Amino acid sequence: MRLVVQKYGGTSVGTPERICHVAQRILETQRQGCRVVAVVSAMAGVTDELLRLGHAVAPQPIKRELDILLSTGEQAAAALTAMAVNELGGTAISLTGAQAGILTDRNHTRARIANISPKQIHELLADDYIVIVAGFQGQTSEGETTTLGRGGSDLTAIALAGALNADTCQIFTDVDGVFTCDPRIVKDAEKLGEIAYDELLEMAGSGAKVMQSRAVEFAKKFGVEFEVRSAFKQVAGTLTKEETPSMEDILIRGISLDRHQAKLSIAGVRDKPGIAARIFSDIGAAHIIVDMIVQNASIDGTTDISFTIHEDELENARTILMPVLGELGAKRLNTASGVAKLSVVGIGMRSHSGVAARMFECLGRAGINIQLVSTSEIKIAVIIDEKEAERAARLIHAEFGLGRLLPAASATQPLA
Ligand code: ADP
Ligand code: ASP
Ligand code: MG
Repeated sequence: MRLVVQKYGGTSVGTPERICHVAQRILETQRQGCRVVAVVSAMAGVTDELLRLGHAVAPQPIKRELDILLSTGEQAAAALTAMAVNELGGTAISLTGAQAGILTDRNHTRARIANISPKQIHELLADDYIVIVAGFQGQTSEGETTTLGRGGSDLTAIALAGALNADTCQIFTDVDGVFTCDPRIVKDAEKLGEIAYDELLEMAGSGAKVMQSRAVEFAKKFGVEFEVRSAFKQVAGTLTKEETPSMEDILIRGISLDRHQAKLSIAGVRDKPGIAARIFSDIGAAHIIVDMIVQNASIDGTTDISFTIHEDELENARTILMPVLGELGAKRLNTASGVAKLSVVGIGMRSHSGVAARMFECLGRAGINIQLVSTSEIKIAVIIDEKEAERAARLIHAEFGLGRLLPAASATQPLA
């Protein structure tokens, strides 16, 4: 019998009616002759609300307690989904991440999966149960509850599909698949039939929240193919898989946008070994995640170092850097929030040149200033003013001919 792992996101289980709709889809899959493991997220808005409550009682809540709090959102959704399946005549049981055998490290709120022992899931499947797993959580070897970072239910589903050696892994969400750009920003964005792990990894890592980047990383590492598709419509989605030679024929697969970034530039630092290490070890020790780093060519023994972080960390980073500027021999620290990162991604870039020039010309014609640039083998990313970000995304999307030729049905159509 085929084994299918499905994941339903927060919007897909956002109301009791939607949970009943999900229960129906799960039962339909079973009726087609499959065993089903369904991973669910917390109902839409619940994780944000739990976080808000946590910060309302303690400005910096203890992470262990945050994990216990946040994990309840998915547990509630899993129990409700199991109830709905049973109400429709099926036989379902819900499991917490711990019961599902998901073992993690001790890094509360951003734990990594260390191991999965899905013994209980195997036994329940053998007894013809539909197994509903609370996403986004696991437990340490000491039995402490952990969560897997925002969007972590994607990771639960991919990891379970890998551990159970599932025949199919389906990620059901509120859009029809992975698009050439967020369809909420670019209306004529096109749904992709397929995408390579590396491309989705770059897109997810640069703001396309359709999949958690850690989940894509895991899928690539363990070769778990998965389909991102609509929870509301019966249409094929986007298959994510290892690249094939024909995929390189497409120059740009997609564009992503990462808002709420901040840029820091340390001007006139001494150009000598150890300076960059000093800056970034202090920043790293404060658990601030640094994205782009650009160092200028040295002039008269001094150089400028710029980097970007999430804007929520700006004050924290300033507090760390201001006292050490003298030690670095730096002239000043300039900071700017309200910037965004725009990335174009495609494995076709490996074999085609001129993408950067075309992107920069397009932005230049539109009067959009590029503040920083970084590249990888399959990505070019620029930092621009956040106010220009959506316009820039639409222009670049059109420049590379990514839009649909004909107007098609809305990508974000809700449940009928
Ligand atoms: P879920 O709750 O199902 O996990 P998310 O909200 O995490 O769903 O992710 C789906 C959202 O990702 C979509 O509603 C869409 O706005 C956004 N998104 C961003 N970039 C893309 C893209 N390239 N393709 C599809 N969706 C995207
Ligand atoms: N509920 C969690 C979040 O909002 C995990 C998820 O939805 O995947 O981030
Ligand atoms: Mg998500």
